[in-house]
Amino acid sequence: MNRKAIRELPYKIILEEHELPKNWYNMRADMPGKVAPLLDPETMEPVTTEALQKVFCTETAAQEMDEENRLIPIPEDVRHFYKMYRPSPLIHAEYLEKLLDTPAKIFYKFEGNNTSGSHKLNSAIAQAYYAKQQGLKGVTTETGAGQWGTALAMACAFYGLDCRVFMVKCSYEQKPFRREVMRTYGAEVIPSPSDTTMVGRKILREYPGTPGSLGCAVSEAVEAAMQQEKYRYVLGSVLNQVVLHQSIIGLETKAALEKYGITPDVIIGCAGGGSNLGGLIAPFAGEMLRGEKSYRLIAVEPDACPSLTRGKFVYDYCDTGRICPLAKMYTLGNGFMPSAIHSGGLRYHGMNPIVSQLYADQILEAVAVSQKEVFQAATTFARVEGILPAPESSHAICIAIREALRCKRENRAETIVFGLTGTGYFDMLSYGKYNAGHLADAPLSAQDLEKSFHTLPEKFR
Ligand SMILES: *Cc1c(COP(=O)(O)O)cnc(C)c1O
Repeated sequence: MNRKAIRELPYKIILEEHELPKNWYNMRADMPGKVAPLLDPETMEPVTTEALQKVFCTETAAQEMDEENRLIPIPEDVRHFYKMYRPSPLIHAEYLEKLLDTPAKIFYKFEGNNTSGSHKLNSAIAQAYYAKQQGLKGVTTETGAGQWGTALAMACAFYGLDCRVFMVKCSYEQKPFRREVMRTYGAEVIPSPSDTTMVGRKILREYPGTPGSLGCAVSEAVEAAMQQEKYRYVLGSVLNQVVLHQSIIGLETKAALEKYGITPDVIIGCAGGGSNLGGLIAPFAGEMLRGEKSYRLIAVEPDACPSLTRGKFVYDYCDTGRICPLAKMYTLGNGFMPSAIHSGGLRYHGMNPIVSQLYADQILEAVAVSQKEVFQAATTFARVEGILPAPESSHAICIAIREALRCKRENRAETIVFGLTGTGYFDMLSYGKYNAGHLADAPLSAQDLEKSFHTLPEKFR
């Protein structure tokens, strides 16, 4: 796009309320090869919708399995809630461009404009809505750093649902403020592994003093939901239904860009379980899948938990306790334990199956970055753009900066769009370590990777 047009751009592109998308977009409808089905952990046969509905809400289980419907209507109630904090702004990073002295144009979609501080509320409110519709009493879940638990606690408070959150023990201890935000919204927060579930007790026996892991907390939350009438398990990432709900990010981004005639060249998102990335790239990947357009789509992951760049694309359990279905995904092995010195978030062993398939099909690129680079990018960004980014989001910032510097070297005026998934106010311990110069890099060693691969199900190793 020409410079004159760019100068006429507002600093922030904010769609109007009536421009908020009416449907989510289901990428699977446009994928030529379908995504491999989930497998039942007992029979190793593809799971049925009925089986999933014992664990998940009826409607979201149906969404999990839906490969046919391209557009899924956003319930009017959910759309109304979205209006509290959406459409979210697409911000032109003018100050970052100036600092980097790059001919590239940089835009970021900011999802941190709600109290939970991240994109996770987009799916939390949808899942709570369907649970309420179904007449459930409550939901259980796990949370790592706490963003998902916070978002779900807010959504459950809105619909008057019980919310029981299994919080990875080290986060429970290191992030007391996150914990208290959840409690303030009425959630019950339990450090995981706990002695309230069979799987929790087993893990405590096998690994006494363990700081916990997401995979383990998932197992506990699933068990807790199965043991109680009118409770279901809900999940903030990894699942296809979450990517579906998060497509609101990409749909708004695309609409905002189109409003000003901007065509992106590079679209970048951080990748934990793959939901914000999958949601951000969804409508763009859709155009690529339909052969209409071409973009560079880039997933950014930590080198401490490099599921796409170093994992295997095989069936694996979604949880350490091996009670959840198996998904075909890029995985490090369900027994993966991230390094204790890794503080960048994004510590899940696997990757959403749709995102995994896009990577296998080379629609998506992936790159792993070190935590020092990430915090350096975060600090650079905060100082010029004002927003204090979450460490997770800063993975995307890091690669956006790298791409902008490449544009400078190659003298190319490309347009770079990245997802700024949230704010980092609850991550100040990590920032503190970085500021004190105590943050070391923690790339996954070849030895630990091999050890972790040994936790893959035997027949898929
Ligand atoms: C949870 C979280 C992520 C990573 O999760 P995805 O499912 O990969 O999107 C990224 N950024 C923030 C701020 C988060 O809270």
